[in-house]
Amino acid sequence: MTKIFNDPSDFAEEALAGFCDIHSGLVRQVPGGAVRCFRPAQPKVAVLAGGGSGHYPAFAGLIGTGFADGAVVGNIFTSPSAQQAYAVAKAAESGAGVVFTYGNYAGDVMNFGMASERLAAEGIAVDNVLVTDDIASAPPSESEKRRGIAGDFTVFKVMGAAAEAGADLAEVVRLGRKANDRTRTIGSAFSGCTFPGAETPLFSLPEGQMGLGLGIHGEPGLFDTDLPPAKALGEELVGRLLAETPPGAGNRIAVILNGLGSTKHEELFVLWGTVAPLLREAGYTLVMPEVGELVTSLDMAGVSLTVTWLDGELEPLWLAPADTPAYRRGNAVREGGPVADGGTSDVEATSAPFVATGSSRDYATACLAALEATQALLHEAEERLGRMDAIAGDGDHGRGMVRGIDAATAAASAALGQGAGAGDVLASAGDAWADKAGGTSGVLWGAGLRAFGEAVGNSAAPEPGQLAAAVRAFADRIVQLGKAETGDKTMVDALLPFASSFAGLVAAGAEPARAWEDAARAATAAAEATAGLLPLKGRARPLAEKSLGTPDPGATSLAMIFTIMGPHLTAAASRETVGVRQ
Ligand code: ADP
Ligand code: MG
Repeated sequence: MTKIFNDPSDFAEEALAGFCDIHSGLVRQVPGGAVRCFRPAQPKVAVLAGGGSGHYPAFAGLIGTGFADGAVVGNIFTSPSAQQAYAVAKAAESGAGVVFTYGNYAGDVMNFGMASERLAAEGIAVDNVLVTDDIASAPPSESEKRRGIAGDFTVFKVMGAAAEAGADLAEVVRLGRKANDRTRTIGSAFSGCTFPGAETPLFSLPEGQMGLGLGIHGEPGLFDTDLPPAKALGEELVGRLLAETPPGAGNRIAVILNGLGSTKHEELFVLWGTVAPLLREAGYTLVMPEVGELVTSLDMAGVSLTVTWLDGELEPLWLAPADTPAYRRGNAVREGGPVADGGTSDVEATSAPFVATGSSRDYATACLAALEATQALLHEAEERLGRMDAIAGDGDHGRGMVRGIDAATAAASAALGQGAGAGDVLASAGDAWADKAGGTSGVLWGAGLRAFGEAVGNSAAPEPGQLAAAVRAFADRIVQLGKAETGDKTMVDALLPFASSFAGLVAAGAEPARAWEDAARAATAAAEATAGLLPLKGRARPLAEKSLGTPDPGATSLAMIFTIMGPHLTAAASRETVGVRQ
């Protein structure tokens, strides 16, 4: 159980603030996370680690000389938003580019990807290194689909050391990817973990059982089995890792025996007593191995074993000095110099004055009304959507949608009050939605709304054809980011029928309000039909069979929202048509 908290929803934020206070000589809190206290004397590549909270010392505990330049800190087990990643990057970058590095989770990939697009558009060199070390999460033939777990530590360490030594962005990225290619981890969980304030664990295992390969957020692993003696557990872990020795590997390895949160160091030492001799007997030299808690999962009981096959390039980087709040090695020179300004001013000063025509502002009022109607609808449907998501997903869809629409409506209202046109009102709503909702659907809805707004623009209420193009832009952005296809059992199954039906009817000369109604009916029918599908994307995928018979929650909410928004979004467009015909 997690026992120390105030309001559970403030837990991650309060933990970060306390951490930054106690380590104020090394780190400094900035919007979205934390960065090193001191600006580098010379421009250097900023290595930014990130992901959800709950994994300390990953990720903020690894900020410091020879390691990360900053960490983007999401809520517990939740990807940080693109806005957070962007803000931390702006605070940390010093002129030699930025590399985001994180475990391969859908939300992180989308959010860091979007932040990268935004940084690149500003001329900042940026790249991403994904960690995929968990051998239990996909077969070797699909290693690019694997999740990142404790191998994060080795990959980040290699990149941090390379950047500290002055390597340029391309070189830091190359070395990070090489370290990842040569890193494998297998974990085993003995009991679940509990969110602050939750009465029941996120998942649980029967007493006396262990889940081999179980993910750090409770994702399904290989199999559950009786908890073996330490010796047999060590043999199982070592055997599975060595079976995946990368081609061309040498005989020098970095090893991490990692506790997942509530496994005692003494237990780890007992296990090390089996693991180390087995590795040595297999002919390996263990280079500066680590036993301890380096990547955790709240209060989960469990262990993971990581091996990185070193070579002449990687070994010096693994051995290089580091000085961070949670990890110190060798004689890293403690930094001094000018305190980082945090870049806050840059990030907050981006809101330029809005420019819009009167007719676009009128349409923006209709857009706000559409959002307000959606807000009432989602509050009413929150529990039902949550129950649908709990069947095979994690039960947070209703909550996430409510958080998203509340933030979006407030942002839209504020933008409208400052004279924004429809494009800016919708884009602000989208950004706020993505920033506050959490979850995959929040990222997609936020990015989709922004794309819709950009297509609508700020110069006039959209013509019917332009409205159809904006719907298409919304759909394209969601498909581009989420990469789901028709039949994967996601919101895309309701969205694509809507977009093509609306575009087709409008092109055939239908009145927009009627066309929208017909398209919304098609989306509703398509959402209901997802009941017969197995989920192929998102969190529901591992428990696919359980979801048979229940429609996809994201498709359901999308059809509901499009239905209720129709009269508001088409009113102005319809008037334009009438005007043209007169
Ligand atoms: P999370 O899955 O992160 O908990 P939510 O519960 O809010 O997020 O949303 C779940 C919904 O998100 C699913 O029902 C599905 O419609 C949608 N979804 C998940 N992954 C994708 C994807 N890759 N592309 C499009 N939609 C997706
Ligand atoms: Mg969910």
